[in-house]
Amino acid sequence: MRAIVNAKIITEREILEGYNILFDSKIVEISRDTISKEIEQIDAKGLYLSAGFIDIHIHGSNGFDVMDATSEALEAIANSIVETGTTSFLATTMTMSREDITTALDTIHNFKYRSGAKILGVHLEGPFINPIKKGAQNDSYIQKPNFELIQPYIDIIKMITIAPEIEGAKEFIEYLQNHYPQIILSIGHSNASYAKSKESFSWGVSHATHLFNAMNPLHHREVGVVGAVVESDKVSCDIIADLVHIHPSLFSILYRLKRDNLLLITDAMRAGCLSNGVSEIGGQKVIVESGEARLEDGTLAGSVLKLNEALKNFYNHTDISLPNLIAMVTSLPAKKLGLKIGRVAEGYPADLVLFNKEFEIDSVYIDGNIFKKGKR
Ligand SMILES: [Zn+2]
Repeated sequence: MRAIVNAKIITEREILEGYNILFDSKIVEISRDTISKEIEQIDAKGLYLSAGFIDIHIHGSNGFDVMDATSEALEAIANSIVETGTTSFLATTMTMSREDITTALDTIHNFKYRSGAKILGVHLEGPFINPIKKGAQNDSYIQKPNFELIQPYIDIIKMITIAPEIEGAKEFIEYLQNHYPQIILSIGHSNASYAKSKESFSWGVSHATHLFNAMNPLHHREVGVVGAVVESDKVSCDIIADLVHIHPSLFSILYRLKRDNLLLITDAMRAGCLSNGVSEIGGQKVIVESGEARLEDGTLAGSVLKLNEALKNFYNHTDISLPNLIAMVTSLPAKKLGLKIGRVAEGYPADLVLFNKEFEIDSVYIDGNIFKKGKR
């Protein structure tokens, strides 16, 4: 057992000072008691400490993509994003050929974790989407909702982004909701009307993927997907807070409307954690320049955002408290996924991040082990 002392501990509600965290692979105790001399003490020197960040939408990082479908790629992603404070994530697939998708899902299914951020499961982004709102997804591979495609991988799929207005979506959503209610069904890459969006919530859609992006905009006479999502107090959503995908003035507005139903994601692609240059997503060329990743026709193609930068951006453009901010990437996504992670509380995994007031990551613990590149 070890102890972290002298940290400002960000819990769900408050910031604790003068407390110590005792942990092995799990958090054993949070207390003010003096620590016995036999226990190794780590001096946090006044840094903030929170639960490790959870990214429910990330395609790649450091030159690798989930669709590369190799354990080398998954490992490289896991080991690079941990440096941004992310300790677990949903490996996110793209709209590609059936073979490419199933090979990627097979690879995740067989992946043996060694180091870095933990893979919680899969976020299937497409191929069941609306070609009108394909964003950077390749429309030649868009298909009708098809349960057979995902059935062999049903135990690893945690989230599906789907356009509810396409043919067969209602039956697909209702079937999943009845048989696999633990899978988050998320409206996205969609051109659904307000009425259709609301209807889909009654079928089982409970989340919205990168609100505002790859969906119809909010028009005052047809408020569309955005209108239905912001109105609902049951449907959560996430945003890409990179200052590129949506204007930062929306951060405050959205937070006031959605509160605990607003999460932050990166939607990072393979150029995440890398510098500018030419990259690739879903078999298409991407040009990365000044924090923006775009297809050759100018379409935004995922992001190069890091989750700690998303936190900083959101914090700088709102008056949100630190505990509420950190919850957007810890306890709230954990609750959505139904997992006992994402809290600094006794009995939770010792997935911990130490960072400064600029959200620069100092050190990361995963299951109680300090992260060092390439090994635990
Ligand atoms: Zn994406």
